[in-house]
Amino acid sequence: MTERFPSVFVSHGAPFLAIEPSPTRDFLSGLGTMLGRPRAILVISAHWDTGEARVSAAGRPETIHDFYGFPEALYRLAYPAAGSPELAARVKALLDAGGVECRIDPQRGLDHGAWVPLMLMYPDAGIPVVQLSVQSRLGAAHHRRLGVALRPLRDEGVLILGSGGATHNLSEFGRHGRDAPSPSWVTDFQTWLEQTVAGGRLDDLVDYRVRAPHGARNHPSEEHFVPLIVAAAAGSEGAAGKLLHDRREFAVLAMDAFRFD
Ligand code: ZN
Repeated sequence: MTERFPSVFVSHGAPFLAIEPSPTRDFLSGLGTMLGRPRAILVISAHWDTGEARVSAAGRPETIHDFYGFPEALYRLAYPAAGSPELAARVKALLDAGGVECRIDPQRGLDHGAWVPLMLMYPDAGIPVVQLSVQSRLGAAHHRRLGVALRPLRDEGVLILGSGGATHNLSEFGRHGRDAPSPSWVTDFQTWLEQTVAGGRLDDLVDYRVRAPHGARNHPSEEHFVPLIVAAAAGSEGAAGKLLHDRREFAVLAMDAFRFD
């Protein structure tokens, strides 16, 4: 019998995470051991945002360095995990059955929302990885449908990993010092998020722009939040999510991670 895997959400913060010591780096470095080794990993990353769902089917996905002006060492990193055309086909079949249009992309590599956390979680790159895009313009309710459709994968030895940010306002990012105290519009939202996940209140999570304090200020665009909706919806109906990590970095980036069993 195959073990049932949780679905997981992680905040990937800034690309520095890959090379600079931080509490979040320490947390992610232990997360792979905590979760165990799945047969394959499906990553839903904020950094692949498309009009309709796309799933990557490259046998050898390249490492995409999709960030600019960072230290040279970051551009030399690679994560040489294999892909899995077979898992990509399974994802498309599940989404088709769930009424979500999905296209196979035979070329797409791994963006930094995928490979930075994976490099820390599973540094041997020995587990095949497939990416599924987000469709931020279709909103949170669409991503709930994605998550529900993907649920069966958890019983097939697949780890569903959403990678985004618990808060993500980049225009506020540069206005605060690295170790400055966090403003209340960030901490109020983070507290609401943690309580809502712990209460298993998926309806509230999906409607966060209306129900959460400062929802739209923390997520001026939705691509870093919707991976959390996918992970939460892939968990069992109404189940409480577990908070795994809750630091903040650069004052306004909440780095929460959650698991959904
Ligand atoms: Zn990002």
